Amino acid sequence: MVRNAILGLGIIVLLAGVVNCAEPNAAPAKKKPEVIQWVEVDGQKWMVHDEKRPMAPVVTSGEASCDDKVGTAPSDAIVLFDGNDLSKWESAKKPGQPAPWKMGEGYFETVKDAGFIRTKQKFGSCQLHIEFATPEKVMGNSQGRGNSGVFLMDMYEVQVLDNYNNKTYTDGQCGALYGRNPPLVNVCRKPGEWQTYDIIFHQPTFKNGKVDRKARFTVFQNGVLIQDNVELQGGTNWIGPHEVTDYVPHEDKRPLSLQDHGNPVKFRNIWVRELKD
Ligand code: MG
Repeated sequence: MVRNAILGLGIIVLLAGVVNCAEPNAAPAKKKPEVIQWVEVDGQKWMVHDEKRPMAPVVTSGEASCDDKVGTAPSDAIVLFDGNDLSKWESAKKPGQPAPWKMGEGYFETVKDAGFIRTKQKFGSCQLHIEFATPEKVMGNSQGRGNSGVFLMDMYEVQVLDNYNNKTYTDGQCGALYGRNPPLVNVCRKPGEWQTYDIIFHQPTFKNGKVDRKARFTVFQNGVLIQDNVELQGGTNWIGPHEVTDYVPHEDKRPLSLQDHGNPVKFRNIWVRELKD
């Protein structure tokens, strides 16, 4: 009995020791989080986890392209080129006239001096998917090598260029917002290989003849983030070796356009989803 009492006392002393050791490192008491029961989105108030709040619409995803297979568009996208014809496009030089670029098997290609082509439909903020391939046979250098461009609202260029071992100025690299913002990384594939752009574009707005809200770009090239929610500081049109345009007020919707820079660049699998601002 005495032995048990001594053992019990020993255990109590040991536990007290553990408690005493633990005390100096004890976590501070947690502050109660603020309780949020209501959220407001687009001027509408919803209770948190309200089952009456409409669910997101169902969309069937398309398939991504791979080496020899061209992908498909999501079910709610507007298809601008599915490999068959350029009926959704027109000449930018001669509006209303057919797009004067060359059709290939499942793709189309720029034609030197034929000018830009642009969509017949006009768009503002959007998600744009487009695939391109610069010439397999390397010709030229710097800005003269596989140059084209994707122009949002026919105004704001995401540069297309063969930048695989090709030095040029950084705000004109492939994936640059031309003359404004270089890409985060150079993720260009080899000349002749198909590449993808996935562009999230929020259009600028204008008030009293001035820009009120600047455009924003997020761009993925070949699945890699190269423009991270970048606020575009102005226009992207080349004026001179070290000069670029500024914002000029324009309509809410304008065509998407592709650049003829004199180099044969191919395009395929183009689709767009309009976005609400
Ligand atoms: Mg260009």
